[in-house]
Amino acid sequence: MIVITRMKEITNMKATPGEAICVIEEFLPGNWVYEDDGIVRAAVVGKVIPDLRLRTVNLKPHVKIPQLPTKGDVVYGIVTVLHDELAIIKIFASESGRKYINPFTGTIHITQVQESYVKNFYEVLAVGDIIKAKVLNNSTPYSAAIKEQKLGVVMAYCTICGSPMRKHQSDTLKCSKCGNVEKRKLSVNYGNIKI
Ligand SMILES: [Zn+2]
Repeated sequence: MIVITRMKEITNMKATPGEAICVIEEFLPGNWVYEDDGIVRAAVVGKVIPDLRLRTVNLKPHVKIPQLPTKGDVVYGIVTVLHDELAIIKIFASESGRKYINPFTGTIHITQVQESYVKNFYEVLAVGDIIKAKVLNNSTPYSAAIKEQKLGVVMAYCTICGSPMRKHQSDTLKCSKCGNVEKRKLSVNYGNIKI
């Protein structure tokens, strides 16, 4: 009876680290709590959730679990490093509008660029390009692909003068200032993005 009364008192109580929740004779320590000399205390900021069946007390942490990219997500990234067969990108937002304050590192292998043969990355991407890519796995380092029509470069700047490039042909861009023409694996959404 005492335990049930106590349970009602502490259920949904907001606890801060170190705060006493109950004594171990009432409830044993469960998740996100610890025992200190017979007293169960909160280990994190959270809401108290007792479990009468197991006779334990748990906390539901108030921390925000960061939303991570997962397999199949379409994301935006900036190209940071190019090798012959590997591009390294920083994933900074998802297509659905989620922004990642600490960008995730991703890699694109040369075989994930397009169905047809690509000699090396310098033919299809340049450092500084903003690309739309599909995530292929569920944890860092992420692998990504840009094969689909909607995937690929969505914004690029001239490697000679730094001005924005305009779509010229299906796989080329033209600098609006100096007229320089460069090859890319373009997204059909090139120049038409809202990040
Ligand atoms: Zn230019």
